Parts: sequence; structure tokens; C-alpha cells
Amino acid sequence: SLNDGRWMLTTETTLPGGWMLCVVTDVSELGIELRDLRQQRDRALKSALSDELTGLGNRRYAMDSLNHMLGPSKAQALAVIIMDIDHFKSVNDRFGHACGDLVLKDFAARLSASVGRDDLVGRIGGEEFLLVLSGSRMHIAEAVMQRLLSTLADASPLGDMPDFRYSCSAGIAFANPGESASDVLRRADTALYEAKNTGRNRFVIYEAVS
Ligand code: GH3
Ligand code: MG
Ligand code: MG
Repeated sequence: SLNDGRWMLTTETTLPGGWMLCVVTDVSELGIELRDLRQQRDRALKSALSDELTGLGNRRYAMDSLNHMLGPSKAQALAVIIMDIDHFKSVNDRFGHACGDLVLKDFAARLSASVGRDDLVGRIGGEEFLLVLSGSRMHIAEAVMQRLLSTLADASPLGDMPDFRYSCSAGIAFANPGESASDVLRRADTALYEAKNTGRNRFVIYEAVS
């Protein structure tokens, strides 16, 4: 590489009589193409794993990551939380799909802001989100959810309708190391169902479900 940014390929050939033939080829164009390919690959990987509307990880990303966190090489307990926005269909029905999208973006931003760097966050369905807390974070699952519910209570995502409010319900389940993702997700879902049936705008921990 030259300091002017060009890339050169040098080939040296020894000719009979001791002469050295040195051929220098400008391969700058090829260098740019390789760099573009890498950038395109990174962009493709990123878009295959992220949700376009909210910028969060998508369902595939969330499920792959959860499976990885539960995998045999990771002997750790986890808190697995499924959140679902309350009466979301009526937001669409009353204010239109675009307003529904604003609520989803608002929720995603507040969820992101209330979790830590190492927590797993993803949008796993239309208005369903997954949060996984590992290590010592696992023990503060309730506090994290409590904080999220209170920030939602203050949220006013529809500028034209400053009085509009929304909430979510959540189910929390704890995973044991080596357990399958589907088992712990099923328990979190059961707890979520219980939260919906007991008034919404709240969370239920699986252990507390009779
Ligand atoms: P509950 O409190 O029991 O969760 O009721 P709900 O109305 O939130 O639940 P339901 O599953 O009946 O409605 C979910 C709605 O979410 C239906 C679907 O049209 C809407 N939805 C899914 N994805 C999107 C999206 O990307 N944008 C918008 N605006 N709406 C979406
Ligand atoms: Mg739902
Ligand atoms: Mg819902």
C-alpha cells in the first residue's frame, strides 16, 4: 500500500544472467471492490438479524442468542421476559397503522434505555418483545420491569394526541442451565397470559402462577 491510498501488487522474476524483472501493477480498483464486498456482507448480516421498524434484534436474532446463552458451554441461569403491548390492536384501529408504528418505536426505545449493555433484547413478534438477563442481572428482573412499566406510564408517543397512554404486560420465567429455549419461553408465555388475565399493565413471575 502506498501512502497515497493506492494498492500495488509487485511480482519479481529472476531472468537468466542475473537480471531481475520487477512488475508493479496498480490494484487499487480491486482493493476497493474487496472492501465494498466486506461492507455489503456486514450490512446483509446486520439486516438479516435486525428489525427494520425498531432497530432492535429481530426474532431470529433473539432466538439464536437465547439458544446460545442456554447452550452447553454457558452454565448460567437466566431471566427470560416476554413483553406484549396491551390492547395494541385498538391503537391501530383508533389512530391508524402509522400511529401503531410510533408506539412500537417508542416502546423499543424505552426498552433499550432501561436495559444493560449485556442484556439480550429483541422484537419477537408484531408487538411482542423478548428481554433476557444473565449473570447478576438475572436477580433484578422485577426491578427492570417495574422501571419499564413506570416509564411507559409517562410516555406520550403520539404528538397529536398528548393524552394518549399505553402499557404492556410481561411474563418472567427463570431458565436453568442446559434447559431448552422452548421450555423457558413457554413458562414466560404462561406468566404473560396470567398478567393479561389479571388486569394488564403488570408483570407476573412464573413461580407465582398457580
Ligand atoms: P392484548 O392486550 O391482549 O395483547 O391485545 P392486543 O390488541 O395487543 O393483541 P392482538 O394480538 O389482538 O393485536 C396485535 C396487533 O398488532 C394486531 C396487528 O395488526 C398489530 N401489529 C402487528 N405488527 C404490527 C406493526 O408492525 N405495526 C403496527 N402498526 N401494527 C402491528
Ligand atoms: Mg400479542
Ligand atoms: Mg398485545
